[in-house]
Amino acid sequence: MRYIMDRVSVVVPSRTLRIVGPIGEGNFCQVQKVEQPHPKGGKRYAAMKSCHKVEGEIDSQTGRNVSIEMLHEARILAGFTDYTYITMFYGVCYDEPIPKLVMELCPYGSVETYITDKSCHVSVPEKVLMIYDIACGMSHLEDIHCVHRDLATRNCLISVRGVVKIGDFGLTRQERELQSEKTRFNEFKAPVRWMAPECLNRNPVFSNKSDVWAFGMTIYEIFSDGLRPYDDDSEMKVIAKKIRAGITPELPPHCQGESKTPRGAIIAMKLSWAKNPRSRPPFRFLKTRILNFGRRYPSC
Ligand code: ADP
Repeated sequence: MRYIMDRVSVVVPSRTLRIVGPIGEGNFCQVQKVEQPHPKGGKRYAAMKSCHKVEGEIDSQTGRNVSIEMLHEARILAGFTDYTYITMFYGVCYDEPIPKLVMELCPYGSVETYITDKSCHVSVPEKVLMIYDIACGMSHLEDIHCVHRDLATRNCLISVRGVVKIGDFGLTRQERELQSEKTRFNEFKAPVRWMAPECLNRNPVFSNKSDVWAFGMTIYEIFSDGLRPYDDDSEMKVIAKKIRAGITPELPPHCQGESKTPRGAIIAMKLSWAKNPRSRPPFRFLKTRILNFGRRYPSC
Protein backbone atom coordinates (compact mmCIF):
# COMPACT_ATOMS: atom_id res chain seq x y z
CA MET A 1 0.00 0.00 0.00
CA ARG A 2 2.94 2.31 0.80
CA TYR A 3 4.10 1.85 -2.81
CA ILE A 4 0.75 2.91 -4.23
CA MET A 5 0.55 5.91 -1.85
CA ASP A 6 3.97 7.18 -2.92
CA ARG A 7 2.73 7.44 -6.45
CA VAL A 8 -0.36 9.50 -5.59
CA SER A 9 1.16 12.80 -4.70
CA VAL A 10 -1.62 15.34 -4.09
CA VAL A 11 -2.57 15.08 -0.43
CA VAL A 12 -5.79 16.80 0.69
CA PRO A 13 -6.11 17.09 4.50
CA SER A 14 -9.70 16.24 5.41
CA ARG A 15 -9.93 19.27 7.77
CA THR A 16 -9.69 21.52 4.67
CA LEU A 17 -12.89 20.06 3.24
CA ARG A 18 -16.39 21.19 4.14
CA ILE A 19 -19.12 18.69 3.30
CA VAL A 20 -21.97 20.41 1.45
CA GLY A 21 -24.24 17.40 0.85
CA PRO A 22 -24.71 14.01 -0.80
CA ILE A 23 -24.49 13.58 -4.59
CA GLY A 24 -24.96 9.91 -5.26
CA GLU A 25 -24.20 6.34 -4.32
CA GLY A 26 -22.77 3.42 -6.24
CA ASN A 27 -22.34 -0.25 -5.29
CA PHE A 28 -19.09 0.47 -3.63
CA CYS A 29 -18.95 4.15 -2.75
CA GLN A 30 -20.82 7.28 -1.90
CA VAL A 31 -20.05 10.65 -3.43
CA GLN A 32 -20.51 13.95 -1.61
CA LYS A 33 -20.24 17.57 -2.68
CA VAL A 34 -17.50 19.33 -0.72
CA GLU A 35 -16.01 22.80 -0.65
CA GLN A 36 -12.23 23.11 -0.59
CA PRO A 37 -9.62 25.87 -0.92
CA HIS A 38 -8.75 26.53 -4.55
CA PRO A 39 -5.00 26.20 -5.18
CA LYS A 40 -5.11 29.61 -6.90
CA GLY A 41 -6.99 31.26 -4.01
CA GLY A 42 -10.63 31.35 -2.96
CA LYS A 43 -12.80 28.23 -2.77
CA ARG A 44 -14.09 25.66 -5.17
CA TYR A 45 -16.59 22.85 -5.09
CA ALA A 46 -15.39 19.29 -5.58
CA ALA A 47 -16.74 15.73 -5.44
CA MET A 48 -15.43 13.46 -2.68
CA LYS A 49 -15.73 9.72 -3.10
CA SER A 50 -15.62 7.54 0.00
CA CYS A 51 -16.24 3.89 0.57
CA HIS A 52 -19.27 2.39 2.35
CA LYS A 53 -17.16 -0.36 3.81
CA VAL A 54 -14.87 -0.58 6.82
CA GLU A 55 -11.11 -0.77 6.82
CA GLY A 56 -9.78 -4.19 5.95
CA GLU A 57 -13.02 -5.30 4.27
CA ILE A 58 -12.79 -6.98 0.90
CA ASP A 59 -14.53 -5.48 -2.12
CA SER A 60 -16.98 -8.11 -3.36
CA GLN A 61 -16.59 -7.09 -7.00
CA THR A 62 -12.83 -7.30 -7.30
CA GLY A 63 -11.86 -9.38 -4.25
CA ARG A 64 -9.34 -6.76 -3.09
CA ASN A 65 -9.00 -4.78 0.13
CA VAL A 66 -11.17 -1.63 -0.07
CA SER A 67 -8.33 0.76 0.91
CA ILE A 68 -6.16 -0.69 -1.85
CA GLU A 69 -9.09 -0.36 -4.26
CA MET A 70 -9.56 3.32 -3.39
CA LEU A 71 -5.86 4.13 -3.75
CA HIS A 72 -5.78 2.20 -6.96
CA GLU A 73 -8.59 4.36 -8.37
CA ALA A 74 -6.75 7.49 -7.20
CA ARG A 75 -3.54 6.32 -8.85
CA ILE A 76 -5.33 5.65 -12.13
CA LEU A 77 -7.01 9.07 -12.02
CA ALA A 78 -3.74 10.82 -11.12
CA GLY A 79 -2.00 9.11 -14.05
CA PHE A 80 -4.02 10.72 -16.83
CA THR A 81 -2.28 13.49 -18.73
CA ASP A 82 -5.31 15.11 -20.35
CA TYR A 83 -8.48 15.78 -18.37
CA THR A 84 -10.51 17.39 -21.16
CA TYR A 85 -12.80 14.35 -21.34
CA ILE A 86 -11.97 12.73 -17.97
CA THR A 87 -13.01 13.85 -14.48
CA MET A 88 -10.12 15.89 -13.13
CA PHE A 89 -8.13 14.49 -10.22
CA TYR A 90 -7.72 16.90 -7.25
CA GLY A 91 -6.14 14.66 -4.62
CA VAL A 92 -6.53 12.05 -1.89
CA CYS A 93 -7.34 12.32 1.83
CA TYR A 94 -5.06 9.90 3.63
CA ASP A 95 -5.91 10.92 7.18
CA GLU A 96 -8.98 8.66 7.38
CA PRO A 97 -9.05 4.87 7.91
CA ILE A 98 -10.00 4.42 4.25
CA PRO A 99 -8.57 7.00 1.84
CA LYS A 100 -11.01 9.33 0.09
CA LEU A 101 -10.76 10.54 -3.45
CA VAL A 102 -11.29 14.23 -4.28
CA MET A 103 -12.07 15.17 -7.87
CA GLU A 104 -13.78 17.64 -10.16
CA LEU A 105 -17.48 18.07 -9.48
CA CYS A 106 -19.66 17.29 -12.48
CA PRO A 107 -22.73 19.27 -11.42
CA TYR A 108 -25.13 17.96 -14.08
CA GLY A 109 -24.77 14.34 -12.96
CA SER A 110 -24.52 11.26 -15.13
CA VAL A 111 -25.50 10.92 -18.78
CA GLU A 112 -27.82 8.09 -17.66
CA THR A 113 -29.80 10.43 -15.41
CA TYR A 114 -29.87 13.17 -18.03
CA ILE A 115 -31.12 11.04 -20.92
CA THR A 116 -33.74 9.25 -18.85
CA ASP A 117 -35.12 12.51 -17.45
CA LYS A 118 -38.40 12.93 -19.30
CA SER A 119 -38.36 16.70 -18.78
CA CYS A 120 -35.13 17.14 -20.82
CA HIS A 121 -35.56 16.69 -24.53
CA VAL A 122 -32.10 15.65 -25.68
CA SER A 123 -31.67 16.53 -29.36
CA VAL A 124 -29.84 14.37 -31.91
CA PRO A 125 -26.91 16.84 -32.26
CA GLU A 126 -26.55 16.85 -28.47
CA LYS A 127 -26.46 13.04 -28.47
CA VAL A 128 -23.83 13.04 -31.22
CA LEU A 129 -21.71 15.45 -29.16
CA MET A 130 -22.08 13.19 -26.13
CA ILE A 131 -20.81 10.11 -27.95
CA TYR A 132 -17.99 12.19 -29.46
CA ASP A 133 -16.86 13.36 -25.99
CA ILE A 134 -17.02 9.79 -24.67
CA ALA A 135 -14.98 8.49 -27.64
CA CYS A 136 -12.37 11.23 -26.97
CA GLY A 137 -12.10 10.29 -23.28
CA MET A 138 -11.81 6.59 -24.12
CA SER A 139 -9.24 7.36 -26.81
CA HIS A 140 -7.05 8.90 -24.11
CA LEU A 141 -7.39 5.74 -22.00
CA GLU A 142 -6.46 3.69 -25.06
CA ASP A 143 -3.37 5.88 -25.69
CA ILE A 144 -2.06 5.29 -22.18
CA HIS A 145 -2.97 1.57 -22.20
CA CYS A 146 -5.71 1.74 -19.58
CA VAL A 147 -8.80 -0.47 -19.75
CA HIS A 148 -11.88 1.04 -18.08
CA ARG A 149 -14.00 -2.17 -17.81
CA ASP A 150 -17.17 -0.35 -16.70
CA LEU A 151 -18.04 2.07 -19.49
CA ALA A 152 -21.77 2.87 -19.50
CA THR A 153 -23.88 6.06 -19.40
CA ARG A 154 -24.05 5.79 -15.57
CA ASN A 155 -20.28 6.36 -15.49
CA CYS A 156 -20.18 9.27 -17.93
CA LEU A 157 -20.61 12.60 -16.15
CA ILE A 158 -21.62 16.04 -17.39
CA SER A 159 -19.12 18.71 -16.41
CA VAL A 160 -19.76 22.35 -15.56
CA ARG A 161 -19.12 23.34 -19.20
CA GLY A 162 -21.41 20.61 -20.53
CA VAL A 163 -18.58 18.35 -21.71
CA VAL A 164 -19.21 14.66 -21.06
CA LYS A 165 -16.37 13.18 -19.04
CA ILE A 166 -15.47 9.59 -18.22
CA GLY A 167 -15.73 8.79 -14.50
CA ASP A 168 -15.66 5.85 -12.07
CA PHE A 169 -12.29 4.21 -12.51
CA GLY A 170 -12.92 1.63 -9.78
CA LEU A 171 -12.51 -1.31 -12.16
CA THR A 172 -9.92 0.31 -14.44
CA ARG A 173 -6.62 -1.46 -14.90
CA GLN A 174 -3.43 -0.89 -16.84
CA GLU A 175 -3.19 -3.39 -19.71
CA ARG A 176 -0.12 -5.00 -18.12
CA GLU A 177 -1.95 -5.46 -14.78
CA LEU A 178 -4.68 -7.39 -16.57
CA GLN A 179 -2.17 -9.96 -17.71
CA SER A 180 -1.36 -10.90 -14.11
CA GLU A 181 -4.81 -10.27 -12.59
CA LYS A 182 -6.95 -13.21 -13.53
CA THR A 183 -9.77 -12.73 -11.02
CA ARG A 184 -13.25 -12.86 -12.48
CA PHE A 185 -15.85 -10.28 -11.59
CA ASN A 186 -18.37 -11.27 -8.99
CA GLU A 187 -21.12 -12.61 -11.24
CA PHE A 188 -23.85 -10.66 -9.42
CA LYS A 189 -22.02 -7.34 -9.63
CA ALA A 190 -20.49 -7.60 -13.09
CA PRO A 191 -21.84 -5.12 -15.65
CA VAL A 192 -22.90 -8.06 -17.86
CA ARG A 193 -25.16 -6.04 -20.20
CA TRP A 194 -22.13 -3.98 -21.29
CA MET A 195 -19.66 -6.88 -21.39
CA ALA A 196 -18.11 -8.26 -24.57
CA PRO A 197 -18.39 -12.01 -25.31
CA GLU A 198 -14.69 -12.64 -24.54
CA CYS A 199 -15.18 -11.17 -21.03
CA LEU A 200 -17.85 -13.73 -20.19
CA ASN A 201 -15.55 -16.72 -20.68
CA ARG A 202 -14.07 -18.81 -17.93
CA ASN A 203 -10.83 -16.93 -18.55
CA PRO A 204 -12.09 -13.42 -19.32
CA VAL A 205 -10.05 -11.22 -21.63
CA PHE A 206 -10.49 -7.51 -20.94
CA SER A 207 -8.83 -5.03 -23.30
CA ASN A 208 -9.44 -1.71 -25.02
CA LYS A 209 -11.46 -3.79 -27.48
CA SER A 210 -13.86 -4.90 -24.74
CA ASP A 211 -14.17 -1.19 -23.84
CA VAL A 212 -15.07 -0.57 -27.51
CA TRP A 213 -17.89 -3.14 -27.18
CA ALA A 214 -19.15 -1.30 -24.07
CA PHE A 215 -18.94 1.96 -26.03
CA GLY A 216 -21.36 0.44 -28.58
CA MET A 217 -23.75 -0.29 -25.66
CA THR A 218 -23.29 3.29 -24.42
CA ILE A 219 -24.25 4.66 -27.87
CA TYR A 220 -27.28 2.35 -27.75
CA GLU A 221 -28.28 3.73 -24.33
CA ILE A 222 -27.98 7.32 -25.55
CA PHE A 223 -29.94 6.88 -28.78
CA SER A 224 -32.65 4.75 -27.15
CA ASP A 225 -33.21 7.49 -24.54
CA GLY A 226 -31.79 5.48 -21.72
CA LEU A 227 -32.86 1.88 -22.36
CA ARG A 228 -30.50 -0.63 -20.83
CA PRO A 229 -29.06 -3.14 -23.31
CA TYR A 230 -31.19 -6.33 -23.40
CA ASP A 231 -33.77 -4.54 -21.28
CA ASP A 232 -36.44 -7.21 -21.85
CA ASP A 233 -34.33 -9.78 -20.04
CA SER A 234 -33.76 -9.75 -16.31
CA GLU A 235 -31.85 -13.01 -15.96
CA MET A 236 -28.11 -12.41 -16.20
CA LYS A 237 -27.56 -15.98 -17.39
CA VAL A 238 -29.96 -15.42 -20.33
CA ILE A 239 -28.23 -12.16 -21.24
CA ALA A 240 -24.78 -13.76 -21.04
CA LYS A 241 -25.99 -16.58 -23.30
CA LYS A 242 -27.28 -14.06 -25.87
CA ILE A 243 -24.03 -12.11 -25.82
CA ARG A 244 -21.97 -15.28 -26.30
CA ALA A 245 -24.24 -16.22 -29.20
CA GLY A 246 -23.52 -12.86 -30.87
CA ILE A 247 -27.00 -11.38 -30.33
CA THR A 248 -26.77 -7.60 -29.95
CA PRO A 249 -29.59 -5.18 -29.09
CA GLU A 250 -31.79 -3.65 -31.77
CA LEU A 251 -32.82 -0.02 -31.53
CA PRO A 252 -36.47 0.31 -30.51
CA PRO A 253 -38.82 1.53 -33.33
CA HIS A 254 -39.15 5.06 -31.87
CA CYS A 255 -35.37 5.51 -32.30
CA GLN A 256 -35.16 4.26 -35.86
CA GLY A 257 -34.78 6.50 -38.89
CA GLU A 258 -32.02 8.97 -39.80
CA SER A 259 -33.72 11.85 -37.95
CA LYS A 260 -33.69 9.87 -34.67
CA THR A 261 -30.42 7.96 -34.92
CA PRO A 262 -27.91 9.03 -37.59
CA ARG A 263 -26.56 6.27 -39.82
CA GLY A 264 -23.07 7.12 -38.51
CA ALA A 265 -24.14 6.22 -34.96
CA ILE A 266 -25.63 2.92 -36.14
CA ILE A 267 -22.41 2.10 -38.00
CA ALA A 268 -20.33 2.97 -34.90
CA MET A 269 -22.50 0.58 -32.83
CA LYS A 270 -22.21 -2.21 -35.37
CA LEU A 271 -18.44 -1.83 -35.69
CA SER A 272 -18.10 -1.86 -31.88
CA TRP A 273 -20.08 -5.09 -31.67
CA ALA A 274 -17.86 -7.18 -33.96
CA LYS A 275 -17.70 -10.61 -32.35
CA ASN A 276 -13.96 -10.84 -32.97
CA PRO A 277 -12.30 -8.21 -30.72
CA ARG A 278 -9.58 -7.62 -33.34
CA SER A 279 -12.20 -6.52 -35.86
CA ARG A 280 -13.44 -3.73 -33.57
CA PRO A 281 -11.97 -0.33 -34.46
CA PRO A 282 -9.82 1.61 -32.00
CA PHE A 283 -11.31 4.64 -30.22
CA ARG A 284 -9.07 7.04 -32.19
CA PHE A 285 -10.80 5.80 -35.36
CA LEU A 286 -14.30 5.96 -33.82
CA LYS A 287 -13.84 9.51 -32.58
CA THR A 288 -12.79 10.69 -36.06
CA ARG A 289 -15.74 8.94 -37.67
CA ILE A 290 -18.15 10.50 -35.19
CA LEU A 291 -16.58 13.91 -35.77
CA ASN A 292 -17.01 13.48 -39.53
CA PHE A 293 -20.68 12.57 -39.48
CA GLY A 294 -21.31 15.05 -36.64
CA ARG A 295 -20.26 17.93 -38.93
CA ARG A 296 -23.63 17.61 -40.66
CA TYR A 297 -25.28 18.98 -37.54
CA PRO A 298 -24.85 22.74 -37.29
CA SER A 299 -24.55 22.82 -33.49
CA CYS A 300 -21.87 20.08 -33.31
P1 ADP B 1 -19.23 3.40 -7.52
O1 ADP B 1 -17.76 3.28 -7.82
O2 ADP B 1 -19.61 2.93 -6.17
O3 ADP B 1 -20.09 2.82 -8.63
P2 ADP B 1 -19.57 6.03 -8.67
O4 ADP B 1 -18.20 6.53 -9.01
O5 ADP B 1 -20.35 5.44 -9.82
O6 ADP B 1 -19.53 5.00 -7.48
O7 ADP B 1 -20.40 7.23 -8.08
C1 ADP B 1 -21.68 7.10 -7.47
C2 ADP B 1 -22.59 8.24 -7.89
O8 ADP B 1 -21.97 9.51 -7.71
C3 ADP B 1 -23.02 8.19 -9.35
O9 ADP B 1 -24.42 8.42 -9.35
C4 ADP B 1 -22.34 9.34 -10.03
O10 ADP B 1 -23.23 9.94 -10.96
C5 ADP B 1 -22.02 10.31 -8.90
N1 ADP B 1 -20.68 10.90 -9.13
C6 ADP B 1 -19.50 10.24 -9.15
N2 ADP B 1 -18.47 11.06 -9.39
C7 ADP B 1 -19.01 12.30 -9.52
C8 ADP B 1 -18.43 13.60 -9.81
N3 ADP B 1 -17.14 13.77 -10.00
N4 ADP B 1 -19.29 14.65 -9.91
C9 ADP B 1 -20.63 14.46 -9.74
N5 ADP B 1 -21.21 13.27 -9.48
C10 ADP B 1 -20.42 12.20 -9.37
